[in-house]
Amino acid sequence: MGVYPPTLENLIRHLAKLPGIGQKSATRVALYILEHPKELAEQLSRSLLEVKEKIRFCSVCFNFTDDDPCSICRDESRANGVICIVEGPGDQLAIEESGVFKGKYHVLHGVLSPLDGVGPEDLKISELLARLERESICEAIMAINPTTEGEATVSFLSKLLSDRGMTLSRIALGIPMGGDVKYMDAMTLRHALQSRTCIRP
Ligand SMILES: [Zn+2]
Repeated sequence: MGVYPPTLENLIRHLAKLPGIGQKSATRVALYILEHPKELAEQLSRSLLEVKEKIRFCSVCFNFTDDDPCSICRDESRANGVICIVEGPGDQLAIEESGVFKGKYHVLHGVLSPLDGVGPEDLKISELLARLERESICEAIMAINPTTEGEATVSFLSKLLSDRGMTLSRIALGIPMGGDVKYMDAMTLRHALQSRTCIRP
């Protein structure tokens, strides 16, 4: 038998299933909800249901949206012929929050991972090809994570998109801001040197 009443144990068990939330955090969140006015629990449960009911994929870029097409796909000022291909909605959000990219996006919803049974047909790749037929795209930037699967995905897409008359690029790999060259692993240093940028031609 648990320390807490079964109803509270049940909430902790469900919260602990969420990513990044262990048993301790789940207990803290559950106790916080329990100790605060009922309105908090009502607002939370309403928001949880609302995201499931209202949020869906944009039929163009496959990002999460409550309007289809999403506001970025509808924004004509962003139709500059540059498309940024990302792994998941979280990656798109991070780039968007940085405010440095003013083109459009395409969310793959994963990366190729044959060992996990994830092939091209499981990602939004055919949708990307269909999109390239419809839209005038002059550059595709791949902002895909530098994991083994990510590298395989970049390589696959590079071959697939190579003869489409557009520039293919990927975001630079290397030393993060605030990083220190002497503490970087060999792979990071290799990528950093390969992705070097010219500051004086
Ligand atoms: Zn969209």
